[in-house]
Amino acid sequence: MSTLVIAEHDNGSLKGATLNAVTAAQAMGADIDILVAGAGCDGAAQAAAAVAGVSKVLVADNAAYEHQLAENVSLLVAEVGAGYDNIIAPATANAKNTMPRVAALLDVAQISEITSVESADTFKRPIYAGNVIATVKSADAKKVITVRTTAFDAAAAEGGSATVEAVDAVHDAGISSFVGEEVAESDRPELTAAPVVISGGRGMQNGENFKLLEGIADKLGAAIGASRAAVDAGFVPNDMQVGQTGKIVAPDLYIAVGISGAIQHLAGMKDSKVIVAINKDEDAPIFQVADYGLVADLFDALPELESKI
Ligand code: FAD
Repeated sequence: MSTLVIAEHDNGSLKGATLNAVTAAQAMGADIDILVAGAGCDGAAQAAAAVAGVSKVLVADNAAYEHQLAENVSLLVAEVGAGYDNIIAPATANAKNTMPRVAALLDVAQISEITSVESADTFKRPIYAGNVIATVKSADAKKVITVRTTAFDAAAAEGGSATVEAVDAVHDAGISSFVGEEVAESDRPELTAAPVVISGGRGMQNGENFKLLEGIADKLGAAIGASRAAVDAGFVPNDMQVGQTGKIVAPDLYIAVGISGAIQHLAGMKDSKVIVAINKDEDAPIFQVADYGLVADLFDALPELESKI
């Protein structure tokens, strides 16, 4: 059996999500190659070659792949992946765009956001916003899989010595082009990779009050998240949203402030190792999943917490 892992990267370096996908690939017990599709992506390719347990890194270095346009990358993955039993990618925004196209091109069903590998053809995955865990057995000869990164530890980034091979295939579908991007600059860790996350909800009342979270986040080296209600109210940008329709996080410590604990929010954070909730309503559902709960007004509790850390 052979598995092709699709690298998540920014050309210069490999994103941590790739390492989680490699662990899922290892659980399938097959030889693992990594495909790095990008432009000027030698840095990412070298990093992929250093990942423990990887046999070969295939590098498609072409302007057509520079911005990971799904229309182009999916054609490449379908061609290169044709020689593999499994094609696996972390369930990132990029892969969620690319992999269903790959599955369609290969005429197989995608198996989305697996959380465990039971055997070479059987996987677990959450459905109904994480309220049910389905066990899925695939009859497809070739498996196209995305991996929920929070469910798999990261493979060792060092210790491997994979060979690096160039892939010449150039696919430019000519139906999309990169116009530009606006990336929020932040000195804080990325939400999905941070060991500590502190999130604010509607209880924060406005965007200005999110400053109350910043001091604590600075002291804890935390990323700042938000509930959808806080995002929809315009307190903070939507890339901060945690939950079913936001980002899935599973940090060592998750602090929910002024968040009621709706199932759609829990779907994005309930696998956190330790959950702390601050809410003035002692009946708020968030306390049912919290390891530590503080029934308090956040405007009193946050300054006190910051002063004591
Ligand atoms: P509320 O439910 O209004 O809760 C605010 C909480 O703050 C209350 O518990 C209150 O007691 C507390 N509070 C108020 N003032 C204070 C104070 N001074 N001190 C302490 N506590 C205080 N939601 C998400 O978060 N993420 C998602 O990805 C998401 N996806 C969704 C997808 C769908 C299809 C749908 C239908 C909904 C989705 N939602 C999502 C919305 C979700 O159902 C809830 O509406 C939302 O999570 C509520 O956000 P909240 O807890 O901040 O607000």
